[in-house]
Amino acid sequence: MAIYQIVKEPDQSLRTRSKPVNNINDGVRRVLDNMKETMYAFDGIGLAAIQIGVPKRMIVVDPGDNYMELINPVITDSSGQKKASEGCLSVPGKVGLVDRAQKITVKALNRDGEEITLEAEDLLARVLQHEIDHLEGILFIDIATHLQADE
Ligand code: ZN
Repeated sequence: MAIYQIVKEPDQSLRTRSKPVNNINDGVRRVLDNMKETMYAFDGIGLAAIQIGVPKRMIVVDPGDNYMELINPVITDSSGQKKASEGCLSVPGKVGLVDRAQKITVKALNRDGEEITLEAEDLLARVLQHEIDHLEGILFIDIATHLQADE
C-alpha cells in the first residue's frame, strides 16, 4: 500500500466526471487499498479515487470505525434534509454548510464484484453524498452556504 498526495483544488481533474469501473481486478483492489491508507493518513472520513488522481468511480468512507469501500456507487433513494458543516481534503482550510438528504439508499459493487445495497443516514449518508459528488466533478464549495476558513 502507499500513501498518495491529495489532488487539491483548483486542479481541473477534480472537475471531471469519473469513469465506471468495468472490470474489478487486482489493480482496482490495489487502488482501493491505497485510497484507504491515504484517507487514514490524512485523517479523512471519506475519499474518492479522483482525489489521488484516479478518475474511476470508487470511494472509501469511514465516518467512525465503519470502513466501507464502494465501486460504481449510485444513490437509488433519498429522503429528508439536513444542513451541516463539511470540509474536504481537496479543499484545505475551508468549511461550509451543506444541505444533504438525511437518509439515502446506495447500490454499489464491493471489491469482489458483488452487488451491495446500503442504507445510510446522518453522517454516513452525508459522507457518501459528498464522495459521490466527487465522481461527478462536484465539490462541496459549489453547493455550500456560509463558506469560511477552517480555524
Ligand atoms: Zn471531498
